[in-house]
Amino acid sequence: MSSTPLAPAAAGTLAVEAARRRTFAIISHPDAGKTTLTEKLLLYAGALGGAEAGAVKARAGRRDSTSDWMELERTRGISVSSTVLRFEHEGHVFNLLDTPGHKDFSEDTLRVLSAVDAAVMLIDAAKGVEPQTLRLFEVARARRIPLLTFVNKYDRPGMEPLEVLDHLATTLELEAVPLNWPVGLPGAFQGVIDRESGLFHRFTRTAGGARVAPEQILRAGDADDDPEWARAREELELLDAVADDFDPDAFRDGSATALFFGSAVSNFGVGPLLSALVRLAPAPSPRREVDAAGEPNGARELDAPFAGLVFKVQANMDPRHRDRIAFVRVCSGRFERGMRVVNGRTGRTLAMAHAHEVFGRERALMEEAFPGDVVGVVGAQDLRVGDTLYLDVPARFPAIPSLAPEFFVFVRNRDSARYKQFRRGLEQLDEEGVVHVLRREAAGDPVPVLAGVGRLQFEVAVNRMENEFGARVGLDEAPWTVARRTEPGDVPTIREATGAEVLVRADGTQLAVFRSEFVLQRLERDHPELTLDRLLTR
Ligand code: GDP
Repeated sequence: MSSTPLAPAAAGTLAVEAARRRTFAIISHPDAGKTTLTEKLLLYAGALGGAEAGAVKARAGRRDSTSDWMELERTRGISVSSTVLRFEHEGHVFNLLDTPGHKDFSEDTLRVLSAVDAAVMLIDAAKGVEPQTLRLFEVARARRIPLLTFVNKYDRPGMEPLEVLDHLATTLELEAVPLNWPVGLPGAFQGVIDRESGLFHRFTRTAGGARVAPEQILRAGDADDDPEWARAREELELLDAVADDFDPDAFRDGSATALFFGSAVSNFGVGPLLSALVRLAPAPSPRREVDAAGEPNGARELDAPFAGLVFKVQANMDPRHRDRIAFVRVCSGRFERGMRVVNGRTGRTLAMAHAHEVFGRERALMEEAFPGDVVGVVGAQDLRVGDTLYLDVPARFPAIPSLAPEFFVFVRNRDSARYKQFRRGLEQLDEEGVVHVLRREAAGDPVPVLAGVGRLQFEVAVNRMENEFGARVGLDEAPWTVARRTEPGDVPTIREATGAEVLVRADGTQLAVFRSEFVLQRLERDHPELTLDRLLTR
């Protein structure tokens, strides 16, 4: 294997480059304003060039090239592909990893969360924490990801700021420490007081929010006759008296969130959020490693030779050539295009010749990358989610979690002459993690079961089975509604319960499936010793 050791000078560069990376995702419920906020972050970072906000969306919406895959995205109006937006601001390099908003793709989002160093939790000021936010939050908490919370749509009636604190404490058991405080009631939002400096940033609307909003910065005494400002300052004094100060350690281990108020559509509060990402969001740090048994085994230092984690594999992003793109998060070392790396799972060497930077739907060749960056490897057929790639020194990272599925169908081969295509298609989709492909080991010639966190996953699976693999498939309802990961020793007890079954994935993972939540609860009550885990690994 040929390798390019880092020159001593480059090692210094590496530390500097890693320190200026900010790799994050936005987690939210659909419609909370993620697309809008993303675009406004780009606007404030100056990453839209001369373009006005609205251009990114317009570009994403211009899907003249169609394939069946794209068609599905287009007709459903759902973004299926995960993309990476990379932009620079104040000397920092941001990698914003997009997360599919649709609930059916929350597994993809889970994987994205294994590749970020921080997340912005976006909530609608009127609706608060919604189901999808909750699921994602649970994963973020399990991974102890530092969270910045942006309370959006403050230009409309919604919860008052103290109510928001209460709401987060009760629904998420999360301590929220406001770093700015809104002036003006929700719906009559004027600006924010920066808690640290005490300065009042009064915003001005711009037409359609297309340009950076001019800000007027006022200090105490400048506008004492403004009753809203006076009120906000009183509230803040009250808060200062009763609530804890911002604790960087609690923020970094995810036990407290930094809270911001704003309105993405009118640009209010976007600037402060962006500077907070620079100041607070952590730069990449040494990634935890595990041994062959999955037990903790130290960490990969940033300046170790290159290692990266495949956190997402996307097929057919480009309809003109049905290719696969594997997204690799750089965890250590410097990545160079053309580098030959080892895939830890297969032991095979892989030349990273087709490495790209992916900006929305556009690609550019990527010559080098540093910890925190995401490289899109095009055409690497044998890369799977969870694979570790490394140079020289083997690396092994903890498995990526995925959510227990909630939807189940039997999948039938409708054309016996094409059984091979059917089998190959299923294998591939299971490997890619598009759906779980499960079998009932007990039965003689078992009909495979597809399982996912949403029905849309099945549509994608059928679509790809037919168009990509030339199989013909039929789906039949399966009777289960909830699943948990279990251990082989627990299988007999679970199988004895009425309304319960155990299915097995190709990698040996055992999934207990239940006809109803009730069946599961009864089993948990009667047999507290059973392993019934909500999170799986891939
Ligand atoms: P996503 O589904 O989370 O990506 O949400 P979008 O960014 O597409 O926004 C959903 C809707 O909320 C759109 O109609 C936006 O114009 C609107 N929206 C987003 N941010 C704000 C905001 O700050 N205030 C108001 N009033 N509407 C907003």
